[in-house]
Amino acid sequence: MSVMKRKAAPKSGPILSPIERDILKWAGEGKTNDEIGRIIGKTKWTIKFHLKNIMKKLDVFSRTQAVSKAIGLGFLSPLKSYDSAKSQPKLKICIVGLGKGGTALLDIFKEDPSMEITGVADANPTARGITLAKKLNIPVAANYKEIIQKGADIIINVTGSKKVREEIKKIKPPEAELMEGLSARVLWHLVEEKRKRIMERERVLKEHTALYHLGLVIENIDSMKDAASAILDYATKLTYTSAGSLGIFDEKSGEMILAASKGFSSNFDKVDRWEMRKGGLTSHILNEKGPVVIPDVRDYPNPNLLLVREGVVSLLGVSLTIEGRVVGILYVNDFKKREFRAEDISLLSLLSVYAALAIERVKAIEEMRQLSITDGLTNLYNHRYLMEQVHKEVERASRHGHPLSIIMLDIDRFKDYNDEFGHLEGNKVLKGIARILKRAARTTDTVGRFGGEEFCIIVPEIEKDGALALARRLLKEVVKNPFPNRKVTLSGGVAAFPKDGKTPLDLIKKADKFLYKAKREGRNRICC
Ligand code: GH3
Ligand code: MG
Ligand code: MG
Repeated sequence: MSVMKRKAAPKSGPILSPIERDILKWAGEGKTNDEIGRIIGKTKWTIKFHLKNIMKKLDVFSRTQAVSKAIGLGFLSPLKSYDSAKSQPKLKICIVGLGKGGTALLDIFKEDPSMEITGVADANPTARGITLAKKLNIPVAANYKEIIQKGADIIINVTGSKKVREEIKKIKPPEAELMEGLSARVLWHLVEEKRKRIMERERVLKEHTALYHLGLVIENIDSMKDAASAILDYATKLTYTSAGSLGIFDEKSGEMILAASKGFSSNFDKVDRWEMRKGGLTSHILNEKGPVVIPDVRDYPNPNLLLVREGVVSLLGVSLTIEGRVVGILYVNDFKKREFRAEDISLLSLLSVYAALAIERVKAIEEMRQLSITDGLTNLYNHRYLMEQVHKEVERASRHGHPLSIIMLDIDRFKDYNDEFGHLEGNKVLKGIARILKRAARTTDTVGRFGGEEFCIIVPEIEKDGALALARRLLKEVVKNPFPNRKVTLSGGVAAFPKDGKTPLDLIKKADKFLYKAKREGRNRICC
């Protein structure tokens, strides 16, 4: 089972000490061992030693991989620490007049790290901005002279009084600039604009960081269910939606298979696959290149009743494709009417690229895993998988005190068949028998090729009598099956847990013993 299975990060994760995190942070910023050593006051040999330890802890082979993994595990921030406020001297500002205009300026400057409000003044102690200034620990005065004399780069006069302006001009330091009325308003607009831009930039950074994290998380996932859940979780968080679903395209049936859903009732999850109706929502989205917005699913011609019943109103859907080939579909939904922002749409579009690649990769891993437990000729489970299952089922049966039976079957005189009709004809018989066994078994039974021309069926929750009946029915079906050259018969043995054996090996040995008894007694029969 270990084929292609990647080593996932341990659940609890390795522990990095503060010094190790510090070293990795500098390594992530491109510093050499020598430089890091100088920054943190150690020799470059100590840094090298620490980095070696870090790589061992994180199970990686390079410092770049160590940085990525440390980010993925949350030890490091993916962004460089950047504080523009630290590198520039602050602009000192004082505001005279704390009515509506002055308060608005105070409110906006207080958040700007490049500015420092050195004081505010208003003759009226109940003026709007006074309480705010006090709360922010900004010096407050009734007389503006007091605060101007403390020094300022810019004095903003929003009193509207010419007399105040003339007096400020007289007392202000010569290098300080005086700003009034209209120019103050222009400044307010500029600062407000800047604030919005910063907020926008921070949001974009946050979202892209989230996408980057998704990439790292998906790297370590090797099951489709986990990958689909992670993708859906990020998609709903990034678009601020409360529900969503992800379907994987099944090439064989041409259907979408529900791989993850979030925010719906259990009725929704019962529909584990859906066809693509012509003119239906899924077909519509798959025909488009990018995300598709449906403002109100109830207005959509040919509405999806399942979504309507769940109360979905608005949705955003995107096809997951690789080089034009559909691999799945991703929906995010809202239960109230909403307009999706342009950023939501572009983020989902970006996420769909990651998602499609991840799905393709996990699909390949799952196919590999399936191949490694399948017998190539008959498509039944192989010997290795059968043994694993017997162990699991014996353990489960003994834990819960449930019944369990095992059927061993072997083709009669198969050597003769091969000798007479050839090996290829013999193969056809093996395939035919595999089909019969598979068709007759329940989904909870495990049908496998034990080896050569021997088959094994693990039948959980069934007592010996039930398994015996099943084995006899199988024998009849094989006898009446029209194989091309001649009639084929089987012999078999049935053993039941715990009476015939308490361990997997004892149980198999017993079934085999009964099988040989059946051979001795004349073949085409089951013994137990
Ligand atoms: P018995 O009734 O005692 O089981 O007789 P038998 O001839 O079936 O038993 P034996 O163990 O002597 O022979 C098993 C034969 O199964 C020999 C081998 O050629 C054939 N066999 C095993 N694997 C394959 C296979 O993959 N394809 C084909 N065509 N034959 C196979
Ligand atoms: Mg045999
Ligand atoms: Mg045989």
